Amino acid sequence: MSHIHLLGFPRIGAKRELKFLVEKFWKHEIDDAALQAGARELRQKHWLLQKGAGLDISPVGDFSLYDQVLDAQVLVGAIPRRFGFDAANLSSAQYFQLARGNQSQPALEMTKWFDSNYHYLVPEWHADTAFAANPAPLLAQIAEARALGINTKPVLIGPLTLLWLGKAKQAGLERLSLLPALLDAYRELLATLHAAGVEWVQIDEPILALDLPADWLQAFAPTYATLAASPLHLLLATYFGDVSAHAALLKALPVAGLHLDLVRAPQQLSAFTQGWPQDKVLSAGLIDGRNIWRADLDAVLQQAEALRAQLGDKLWLAPSCSLLHSPFDLAQEIKLDVDLKSWLAFAVQKVNELKLLKRGLQQGRDSIGNELAASNFAREQRRSNPRIHRADVAQRLAALPAGSDQRASSYAVRAEVQASWLKLPLLPTTTIGSFPQTGEIRAARAAFKRGEIDAANYEAAMKAEIELVIRKQEALDIDVLVHGEAERNDMVEYFGEQLDGFAFTEYGWVQSYGSRCVKPPLIYGDVARPQPMTVSWAMYAQSLTPRPVKGMLTGPVTILQWSFVRNDLPRSAVCRQIALAINDEVLDLENAGIKVIQIDEPAVREGLPLKRGDWDAYLAWAGEAFRLSCAGVDDSTQIHTHMCYSEFGDILPAIAALDADVITIETSRSDMELLRDFGSFHYPNEIGPGVYDIHSPRIPAEHELENLLAKALDVIPARRLWVNPDCGLKTRGWPEVEAALQSMVNVTKRLRQQL
Ligand code: GLN
Ligand code: ZN
Repeated sequence: MSHIHLLGFPRIGAKRELKFLVEKFWKHEIDDAALQAGARELRQKHWLLQKGAGLDISPVGDFSLYDQVLDAQVLVGAIPRRFGFDAANLSSAQYFQLARGNQSQPALEMTKWFDSNYHYLVPEWHADTAFAANPAPLLAQIAEARALGINTKPVLIGPLTLLWLGKAKQAGLERLSLLPALLDAYRELLATLHAAGVEWVQIDEPILALDLPADWLQAFAPTYATLAASPLHLLLATYFGDVSAHAALLKALPVAGLHLDLVRAPQQLSAFTQGWPQDKVLSAGLIDGRNIWRADLDAVLQQAEALRAQLGDKLWLAPSCSLLHSPFDLAQEIKLDVDLKSWLAFAVQKVNELKLLKRGLQQGRDSIGNELAASNFAREQRRSNPRIHRADVAQRLAALPAGSDQRASSYAVRAEVQASWLKLPLLPTTTIGSFPQTGEIRAARAAFKRGEIDAANYEAAMKAEIELVIRKQEALDIDVLVHGEAERNDMVEYFGEQLDGFAFTEYGWVQSYGSRCVKPPLIYGDVARPQPMTVSWAMYAQSLTPRPVKGMLTGPVTILQWSFVRNDLPRSAVCRQIALAINDEVLDLENAGIKVIQIDEPAVREGLPLKRGDWDAYLAWAGEAFRLSCAGVDDSTQIHTHMCYSEFGDILPAIAALDADVITIETSRSDMELLRDFGSFHYPNEIGPGVYDIHSPRIPAEHELENLLAKALDVIPARRLWVNPDCGLKTRGWPEVEAALQSMVNVTKRLRQQL
C-alpha cells in the first residue's frame, strides 16, 4: 500500500509552546522533569494530529529541544571534548550549554541550514573525535509514539551529511577520514533500532543537492553498502534541490527507498522514473514544505496518478522537505483576509492535502470532488485577482528602458561631486542605522499598535527619540548621522507593512534557531508603494542638524529573502517589483533633501543558490534589483549599502557591481581578514569596515581600534575608507554604545592627524 508520510513536522507548536517551554527552563522557572513533560506533550499532540489526518507512518526524532543537528551529534556520541560531557549521560543543562555556551566554553558555532533561514549547530571534528551510538533518547521517543498507536519511522541525519556539515578543527584534517568510525556508530544505531522492532528508517542526505567533491560522492556507495547490512528498510531522503546528476548512483544504492524534492526540482523526476528499480519505494515530495501556498491539488493528483501507474504501491507521497520550514496552522489566522487565506496552506493544511491525495489515488477523483473544486477555485482566483496582478506594476516594469539600473556617471565622477558638498574629513565616521531600542521605545510602539496611544502621541515619542539620537551623535562628533530607527520593529516588516502586495500573519512563526522564531511577511501580490514610508522621519531628523543624516532603507534582495514569496512569478521578477517600490522612496528622500541614502542588503550572500552553476544568474538579477532601487538619483546623492555576517571572497565582483558609493561591512571579528579580500580585489568604491563587534556589550579598547584601522589602511587608501561599527546598535545599551563610539571617534581623529 502507498504511504503518505512526512520528513519532519514543525516542533515549535501551534503557539510556539516549545519556545516558551525551553526559555522557562533556562530561567530556572521549571525543572527538568517539567521540561521533559512539556516536550513529550508537544510530541504527542503532533503525532496524534498526523494520525488523525491519516498519515501511515510518522517521523520520530524530528523533534528537538534545540536543533536536530545537535541531537544527531549526541546520538553518535560526538560531543567536542572541550566541554567534558558524556553523551550517554548528558543532562538537559549540558545539552543547552552545547547550544548556548557559558563563561568557560563558547557554544558550538551556528550556521545556516542549506539555503533556508534555519540555523544548525556545527559539529567540531578532530582527528581523535570518537563516536559511540547513544540511541536511548530516540528509543524513548519511539516508545512514546508507539504508545499512541503510531507507526514510527525514525529520522536520522545521514552520516555523510553529518560529516559534511561539521568543521574540521585541525589543519589538514580530512572530514571523510572520520567516516569509518562514524559508520560503526551508525551500524550500532541501526542494529538497536532493528532490535526495537523498527521497520523503516529515514536517512537524510541533503548534501546530495550541493556541488559535492568527487571523493564525497564516491563515499555514498560504500557507506550505504555498509548500512544496508542491517535488515532495516532505509529511506534515503534528498531535498532542497536537483539530485538527478546522481540518479544512476542513487538508483543503484542498496536502500529500500529514495525521497525526491519535486517542488524545488520537478525536472529531476524523469531521470529517476526511467529505469526505476521495481523493488524500491519512490517518495515523491509533491507538496511544498518550504512555502505557504496551497497546493494545486488537481495538478499534484495528476502527477501522483501518473507515478502510481508506474510504481504502484512503491509510490509514497510527502511534502518536498521537512515541514520544519513551514508555519504551523492556518486555522489560527482569524484576522487574515479571507481571499488570501484561501490560497494558503501551513503545516497542518499540508498534512491534510496529503490525506486528500491519498484518498484521490485510492478511491478516485470523485471521492475528493469538493476539495478539488475548492482547490481549483482558489487557483483560478489567484490567477485573476486584481490585487495580485496590477496593470500599473506590469506596465512600469515593461516600460523600463534598458540600462535604467545604471547611475548617470561613474563612481570617480560621482565621488568628486559628492565630496564637494559633503565636505567630510578623511576617514569619515558613521554608524549603521539603529541605536538602542530601549524598553520605552518598544513599549510606545506596542501601545500604538494596540491603539492605546494615538498617532500624535506616538509621533511625539518617536521624535523625542530621534532628537536624542541626533544630539548624542553630535556630541560624539560623528560625521554622517542616522535617525536611529526607533520607529522600526524589524527591518523587513517595517517596509512590508507599508507596501502593497504584502500580508502579515499572527502565528506564522518558523524556527530560526533554538527558541528563536521568525514570522516572515507574505508577498502574495504585485508590489507597489502607495505612499512615502520613511520621508517624514528622515526630514525631521535632518531638520535638527546641519550634518548629513542618512536616509535608511532595506534593499529589495533582503526584503525578498526574508519573506515567504509568491510562487506564481520567478523570484527575480518579485525582486524587481520591490526594487521599484524602494526606488520610489529613494527618489522621494532625495527630493526632500536627504542626499545620503543607505540601502541595507545583508541577505545578498545568503540568497546564493546551493549550486555554483546557478550563482551567476542569481547575482545578475540581485545586483540589477539593488541598482534599480537607487536608479535615477543625482550624481551628488551618495548611496550607501550595508552587509553583515558575510563571506564576500567569491562574490566580490558582484558586490562591486552593485556600484554603491559606500559599502559598510562586518569585519571586526575576522580581524579585518574580510577586508583584505576587498583590497586584493581592488574594490573601486568607498568602504567602511566595521571596527568593532556589536554582538557583545564589550567596549573595544582604543589600541584595538587603532590596530584594526591600521590594518584597514594597509589595504584600502585613506580617501576611500570610512570608520563605523560592524552593524546596527539596536540590541545594545546606551552606556556601552556611547563609550564604544567615543573611542571610535577619538581614534579616528588621532589617525587623521597622522595622514
Ligand atoms: N540599518 C540596520 C540597523 O542598523 C541594519 C541591520 C542589519 O544589517 N542587519 O539595524
Ligand atoms: Zn548589519
